[in-house]
Amino acid sequence: MNQEKTFIGQPRGLSTLFFTEMWERFSYYGMRAILLYFMYDAVSNGGLGLSKPTAVAIMSIYGSLVYMSSIVGGWISDRLLGSYKTVFYGGVFIMLGHIVLATPFGLPALFISMILIVIGTGMLKSNASGMVGHLYAPEDLRRDAGFSIFYMGINIGALLAPIIVGTLGQKVNYHLGFSIAAIGMFFGLLQYVIQGKKSLAHIGQEPTHPLLGEEKKVFTRNISLGLLFVVVLFGGAALLGSLTVDFFINSISVLGIFLPIYYFTKMLRSKEVTSEEKKKVRAYIPLFIAAIIFWSLEEQGSSILALFAAERTQATIFGITIPASLYQTLNPLFVVILTPVFVALWTKMGARQPKTEVKFAIGLIMAGLSFVLLMFPSMLFGVDHRVSPIWLILSFFIMIAGEMCLSPVGLSVTTKLAPKAFEAQTLAIWLLADASSQAINAQIARFYTPSTEGMYFAVVGGVAVIGGLILYAARGSIRQLIGNIH
Ligand code: GLU
Ligand code: ASP
Repeated sequence: MNQEKTFIGQPRGLSTLFFTEMWERFSYYGMRAILLYFMYDAVSNGGLGLSKPTAVAIMSIYGSLVYMSSIVGGWISDRLLGSYKTVFYGGVFIMLGHIVLATPFGLPALFISMILIVIGTGMLKSNASGMVGHLYAPEDLRRDAGFSIFYMGINIGALLAPIIVGTLGQKVNYHLGFSIAAIGMFFGLLQYVIQGKKSLAHIGQEPTHPLLGEEKKVFTRNISLGLLFVVVLFGGAALLGSLTVDFFINSISVLGIFLPIYYFTKMLRSKEVTSEEKKKVRAYIPLFIAAIIFWSLEEQGSSILALFAAERTQATIFGITIPASLYQTLNPLFVVILTPVFVALWTKMGARQPKTEVKFAIGLIMAGLSFVLLMFPSMLFGVDHRVSPIWLILSFFIMIAGEMCLSPVGLSVTTKLAPKAFEAQTLAIWLLADASSQAINAQIARFYTPSTEGMYFAVVGGVAVIGGLILYAARGSIRQLIGNIH
C-alpha cells in the first residue's frame, strides 16, 4: 500500500487511535484505581461507606458490564452510525460519566456514572480496535505490529492514570481524581476530532450494514421486548421487596455466563456458518474458556489485590507512604516493559515459537502461579502483620508475563477463528471472555476474607494452573480442529 508513513512506520490513523485509546484507558483505569477505596471509605472521609464485599463485587460487575456492552457498541457502529461517529459519541458518554462521578451526589451519582461509562466504553473500545484492523489491507504485514503498538498505548494510559488520578484522588480528594479522569477523556476526544478528520477520513464513516425498512420494525419490536423484560424483572423484584444490590449483582453474573453460551450456540447452529468454520468455532471454545479463567485472575488485580494492597502490605517504605492505588501501575508497567521483550522473543524463535493453544496454556499457568504465590504471606506471617509489597510486585510480574502469552494472541486468534457471518461482533466476542470472567469474580470474591486469604489464593490459583495443564494436554485435538492457522 502506498500510504504516507508518519507514525513509526505505520499508517497515520494509528497515531490518532493510539492516543484516543490511551486517554480513554487513562480515564478508565484512573477512575478504577480509586473507585474501590471511594466506595468503602467512610462517608466522613469523602467515601460512600459501602461494605468491602459489596464494593469488591461492584468493581467486578462494573468491569463485566463495560466489556459486555461492546456487543451493543458493535451493533451501533455496524447498523446505525459507522465506527467513526460511534467512537466519538462513546467518548462523550465516558467523559460525562466521569464528570457525574466528580459531583458530590453519592450513590445515585455512582450509578448514573456507571451507566454512562458502560454505554460509552461499549461504543468506543471495540470500535477503536476494529478501526485499527481496518487501517491495513488484508495482506499488509504491519498489522500485528500495529496491534502491539496499540496495546502499548492502552497500557501507557493505564500506567499514567494511577500515578496522577490515583495519587491526587487518594491524597487530596476522590472527586478531584474523577475530574482528572474526565479531563483525560476530553484530551482524547479533542485529539480524535482534530487528527481523525484527516487520518481516519477513509474509515468507518458509514455503517457497514445499515438498518433498512422492515428490519427497523423488527428492531423496534425486539428492543421493546428487551426493555419490557428488564422492567418486569427488576419491577417484579422491587414488588417482592428483593431489589437489592445483591439481586442486581446476581442478575449480571447470570447474564455474563449466558451470553457466551448464546453466542456459541448461535454460531454452531447458524446456516450461514460453513462446516469448516464450525470446526474452528469448536477449537475456539476451549481457548475462550481458558481466557475467561485468565481474565478472572488478571482482573482481580483491581479488586481483590487492590484490597490486599490497602490492607495487607506495609504502607510506608523507606519512610515514604505509598497510596494503595499506586499498585495499579504495576500491571500496565510490566506490560510496557515486557511487550518488546516478548515481541523480540517470538521473532527470534520464528517458526519454533509455541502455537497459540500452547501460549494460552502457559499464560493460564503463569496467572495461576501468580495467585499461588500470594498464599505464602498469610501462611508464613499470619494475617495480623502487614507484609512487604515485594509479594504483590512479584505476583503482578508473573501475571503479566502470562498476559503477554495470552492477550495479544487472543485477539488475533479470535479474528482468525470467528466465522465470516459474525465479523462485526468479533471484537465483542473476545471482550466477552473478560466480561464473563468478571461476572464470575463478583460471585467468588465473597470467599475472600482475612481468615480465608491463603486458602483463597491457593484454590483460585490452583484452578487456573490445572486449567492450563488440561489445555496443554488437549493441544493436539485443538490443533486438529484449527488446521494450519498460526
Ligand atoms: N486490559 C486490556 C484493556 O484494558 C485488555 C482487556 C481485554 O482484552 O479483555 O484493554
Ligand atoms: N493490562 C491491562 C490491559 O491491558 C491494563 C490494566 O489492567 O491496567 O491491557
